[in-house]
Order: sequence, then structure tokens, then C-alpha cells
Amino acid sequence: AKGAGRNTLRFFDPRTQANVTARTLLEAGLREGLRDGHFLLHYQAQINAHQGVVGAEALVRWQHPQRGLVSPAEFIPVAEASGLIVPLGTWILRTACQQLVAWGQDARTAHWTLAVNVSARQFRHSHFVDEVLGVLEETGANPHRLKLELTETLLLDDVEDTIGRMEQLRRHGVGFSLDDFGTGYSSLSYLKRLPLDQLKIDQGFVRDLLTDADDASIARTIVTLAHSMDLGVIAEGVETCEQRDMLIGLGCLTWQGYLFGRPGPAAELQAAAAAHAVV
Ligand code: C2E
Ligand code: CA
Ligand code: CA
Ligand code: CA
Repeated sequence: AKGAGRNTLRFFDPRTQANVTARTLLEAGLREGLRDGHFLLHYQAQINAHQGVVGAEALVRWQHPQRGLVSPAEFIPVAEASGLIVPLGTWILRTACQQLVAWGQDARTAHWTLAVNVSARQFRHSHFVDEVLGVLEETGANPHRLKLELTETLLLDDVEDTIGRMEQLRRHGVGFSLDDFGTGYSSLSYLKRLPLDQLKIDQGFVRDLLTDADDASIARTIVTLAHSMDLGVIAEGVETCEQRDMLIGLGCLTWQGYLFGRPGPAAELQAAAAAHAVV
């Protein structure tokens, strides 16, 4: 993954013409992929200590005809820069809502929530709120089961506008989770004003939770903050039982990570749910 990250950086280096060309090609590829239906959603379970699987996060994948599965870390930034994130984001929302409807029809999954990532450019688009409400209506998905994941940078870019959009969606029952919490420049006074439901502890703090005292105290602070603001808290990137147990000790009882399952097709999530019915 580290190697891929380095390649990505080199790939998008704006200083050389070759990279500009590569980026233009990727953009054209995205456009084609959207037209030809080459995107799909994978789902990763979210587990609560008492309730088992409580929902999932939708993660987009690009099934490229020649390159195979392309990582969103590579194509989401290009989709953002080109504006393609707007139609792609709508497709993601619609597909996620269709999945919610399917889960709603099965007693074992009817209570599951689905978290959907939203990019800055998508969120700021003038029709974003109407788009979300339109997709909810068109699919018949329960808005109370839909959770949008937003990042700090996005939220704080224009706080008044952000709060307005969030409030409109909240009135219909849509929830909000603050993704990658702790990695941005969040000011706690802003945090208080934002109508959030959940903080998501970034995987960067979970990775070395057992060996890095600073990461442990940041994680503890986030949990305390969430509790004192009456917000839920979830940790991402949980890979080991030791990390999970440490999180329990810190008071974080909802988790997501390879320990419980990798992102995969909806059917695989159903199997994971059976395996983790009781933790
Ligand atoms: P993110 O929202 O922070 O998503 C979490 C990433 O961590 C995912 O990578 C997930 O597969 C990975 N992950 C999950 N569990 C573990 C674990 O235990 N250990 C480790 N090391 N990693 C884990 P992925 O799917 O490659 O997505 C990367 C990023 O791309 C996402 O980060 C998000 O920013 C963006 N992205 C993915 N899907 C979407 C989408 O549908 N819309 C938008 N706008 N962005 C998306
Ligand atoms: Ca996320
Ligand atoms: Ca995250
Ligand atoms: Ca992240």
C-alpha cells in the first residue's frame, strides 16, 4: 500500500507533461467507467461490542477492464479535481440506498446503518441536498439508516454553509459522522456547533495504540470528547484483538477494521455478520 501511495504521488506530479497526460487519460477512463457501469461498492462491517454488526461503510471500487480493481485513493482525487465526483457521488449514493432497501427487507439486517463517504466538491455542489433527498425518495431508503461521512477539512471550509446543508438533511433523519477525526485542524468551538452524530477515530491513531502513548492519549481524548458532547464514537482500522481490547478500555465500543472483515461484496458482509453476531 505504501508503494502504491508513492507511485500515485509520482503519477500525479504536475511538473511533467507525461503526468498531465496520465491524469487526462485517467479522467477519460473515469468518464467511460461511469458510462459503462464499471464502478461497484464494497461494504465493511461496523461492529458494536454489545450488538454485533450495527451497519457498514460503503467504499467505492473501480473495476477497470485492463487494470483490474483500482483503489479509490488513486481515482477519487482525480474525480474531485475534474468534477466527475458529482455524477459518481450520485451513483454511489443511489447504489448505497438500494443496498439499504435490500437490508431493510431482511429481519437480520433491517437495523443496519450505511455510512457513505462524501467529498468536498460533491458536498458543496449547489444541488447536493436535493440530490440526497431525491435519491432517498426514488429508492425508498430509510433516511434514518443513512449516515454521511464528512471530513474536518470539508466541514470547516465554510462552516455556515456546512451547518445549513447538514440541518436540511437532518430534518429528514440523515445522520453525520466526522471521518478521520484528529487528523485535521478542527477547532473544538466549531465542533460544538456542527450537528454531528458520531466521531470516527482515524486509523492513524489506532495503528500504534499499544506502543505509542501519544496516540493512546489522543484516542482517549476523542472518546471523552464524544461522550461529553453526546456523540457516538467509532474506531477505524482495528486489526488486532489487542487494539480492540485497548479501545474497550478507553470506552470506545464500536469498531471497524480487518479484524472483523475487509471491505467486500454485500454477500460477504452477511457472512461476517453471522460470525460476529455476538462478540
Ligand atoms: P476512508 O474513508 O478513511 O476509508 C477507510 C479506508 O481504510 C478504506 O480504504 C478501507 O478499506 C481501509 N481499511 C479498512 N479497515 C482497515 C484496517 O483494518 N487496516 C487498514 N490499514 N485499512 C483499513 P479504501 O477503500 O482504499 O478507501 C480509501 C479512501 O478513499 C477512503 O478513506 C475515502 O477517503 C476514499 N473513498 C472510498 N470510497 C469512497 C466513496 O464512495 N466516496 C468518496 N468520496 N470517497 C471514498
Ligand atoms: Ca470513511
Ligand atoms: Ca476514515
Ligand atoms: Ca482515512
